[in-house]
Parts: sequence; C-alpha cells; structure tokens
Amino acid sequence: MNIGPQVKCQVNTCVHWIKDLCAAGNIDILYEEEGKMAQQQEQTECKTFYKKRGLANFIGGMDNVNWLGMAKEYVMPGQQMSPSVTCIVSSCKYWAQGDLCNAQEIDITGIDARECQDTDCSTFVDR
Ligand code: SF4
Ligand code: SF4
Repeated sequence: MNIGPQVKCQVNTCVHWIKDLCAAGNIDILYEEEGKMAQQQEQTECKTFYKKRGLANFIGGMDNVNWLGMAKEYVMPGQQMSPSVTCIVSSCKYWAQGDLCNAQEIDITGIDARECQDTDCSTFVDR
C-alpha cells in the first residue's frame, strides 16, 4: 500500500506553510509547462501553492487543510503532519501508476515564491 511521502517544504510565502511543513490536505505536483515532460526539478511545481496575502486569503485556503495532521503536530511536534501527494510527473523515477509518489520524503523548494512556477519538487529524479 502506498502511504505517500513525508512532505517537507521551504515555501514560506504559501498559505499552507507552517515551519517547513505543509498543512494542506493534499498537494498536486505538476509539470511547470503543460504537456512538456520534466527532465529536471526546475520543470516541476507544486500547483497547490496559494500565496499568503491576509486573512481573507487564509480563509480561502481552508477547504484544503489537514486538520488531523495539524492536531498531531501540535501534540507531538516534528514530522507528524504531511499532505497526501498527487503527482502527474511520470518522467520521475519515484512516480507510480495512479499518480502516486513512491519516495519516502519529498522536498518542495522555492523560498519567497510568488506563484506556483517558482516552486519545485527537488526530489525529482529523471528516470
Ligand atoms: S508550496 Fe505546496 S507543499 Fe509547500 S506549503 Fe504550499 S501547498 Fe504545501
Ligand atoms: S519525487 Fe517525483 S514522483 Fe514524487 S512528487 Fe516529486 S516529482 Fe512527483
């Protein structure tokens, strides 16, 4: 059974970001350019990135929140909270049928990102 990778994230400008972890319920990893297979990590992106702007925008992101993970993280700080991962980057060696990711952990990078394209799945490895 695929339980999905632990997600670590550096994207401090995302509404879902909490201290290098991701509080979203699910994240979608896509090709940066539609229809173009990724051959390097810069050609991937976290499509679930949602730029932090203020309270109204925070509430707008609340339909995709991992409440159970946040509660666990509160009780036992560390690596408890992690979203499920849907990934269509089939050129990655960790990709599995069903848009799953078989890596144990993935790192999403893009400090100070302004849009999805500024983020990458740094764990991507070309098949
Ligand atoms: S950029 Fe993606 S992985 Fe990082 S906090 Fe936002 S939704 Fe989560
Ligand atoms: S490591 Fe590969 S399969 Fe896993 S989320 Fe990143 S790009 Fe997708």
